[in-house]
Amino acid sequence: MPESDQKSAGGVSIELRGVTKRYGSKGRAAVDDVSMHIAAGEIVVFVGPSGCGKTTTLKMINRLIEPTSGEILIDGQDVTHADADELRRNIGYVIQAGGLFPHLSIAANIGIVPGMLGWDKQRTATRVDELLDLVGLEPAAYRDRFPKELSGGQQQRVGVARALAAGPPVLLMDEPFGAVDPITRARLQDELLSIHEELGTTIVMVTHDFDEAVKLGDRIAVLDVGARIVQFDTPQTVLAEPADDFVREFVGSGAGLKQLSLTRVADVPLLDFPTARLGEPAAEVAARVRGAGEESVVLLDERGRAVAWPWLQALERGDCVRDGRIVLPRNAPFATVGRRATLSDTLDTMLQSHHGGAVVTGRRDTYLGVISVDVVMSVLQGGRMPGAAGEVRTA
Ligand code: ADP
Ligand code: MG
Repeated sequence: MPESDQKSAGGVSIELRGVTKRYGSKGRAAVDDVSMHIAAGEIVVFVGPSGCGKTTTLKMINRLIEPTSGEILIDGQDVTHADADELRRNIGYVIQAGGLFPHLSIAANIGIVPGMLGWDKQRTATRVDELLDLVGLEPAAYRDRFPKELSGGQQQRVGVARALAAGPPVLLMDEPFGAVDPITRARLQDELLSIHEELGTTIVMVTHDFDEAVKLGDRIAVLDVGARIVQFDTPQTVLAEPADDFVREFVGSGAGLKQLSLTRVADVPLLDFPTARLGEPAAEVAARVRGAGEESVVLLDERGRAVAWPWLQALERGDCVRDGRIVLPRNAPFATVGRRATLSDTLDTMLQSHHGGAVVTGRRDTYLGVISVDVVMSVLQGGRMPGAAGEVRTA
């Protein structure tokens, strides 16, 4: 595992071979002879009852906990005897509530590992800003703040940024989004998927939320006491063919709605909706929107980001027009979703808007198109989307 600060470090494989952890000399092993292979770049999610050994398994991968026996290979190399400090610099680790140091600024928190690696100030500062941008926090606004000045969700973002600081090929996350509200959690999940798409990092995550496992996991490992693997398969298979009653209980009911959390915005066709740039002549835009048979228009700023979604009527009333040109309307919230958002989150978002759809954005909030509520409803009713071909994850 070469130390690297490249943006696209890519991921590496992780293999557990007969790994056991006993906390005391007697009694049951917390992790009992577990073997599993995680492919490079894969997202694997551990679910299972409290105390079944999820955290212990995770912490053995970066040797925060030493296995009693067995081998752990990362990128094919046995790391059970490697230098533990060096190992941990190559493995990002995210825990609940970010685990930030309260007396350090956001920049200093993110710069910890680069500091340990001896990067100079300039290189670290550049990297900190890059990472803040990556996790969706404006660098100038956040780098000098302190953790307590940030919301829970923002702190969690900084926790992810810190874990990614040195471009680690492996990211371990222990119930990272457990302490944030559901809407923020959905955003953080989308952010994580989009970061994963960009960096290709191998991610092992623990969650108690099965929906989260379905949304994020390429594969889900359902664990029982002693971290015994009851089922280790794709979300689709775990949902459709739970290995036994234990798994079935975890999966729960509501298969139709589950389909919505299995399908992503990127998997369904988007509408080619009328757009306009700020500063364009309002009359021309209005004619164009009417010509397209639509009643609203998505406004884009100079960087191609969707900034408003006014109705044609409002445009004609002159609500967001000055000197005949389109300007940013004041206080005009509208529904947006990322392309990795599930249709379940998308539906929640749509229900808060009157457009019967949501604006879809890509990286750095660039506008991609509009998803309509009809598409979501047809998936809910079991209709197949053209071009979706049953494929959930577009790697
Ligand atoms: P999970 O993360 O799935 O809730 P853990 O890995 O934290 O489970 O714990 C697995 C088992 O090991 C539990 O029975 C727990 O009580 C025990 N355990 C965890 N940490 C320690 C420790 N430091 N000392 C002794 N027992 C521990
Ligand atoms: Mg735990």
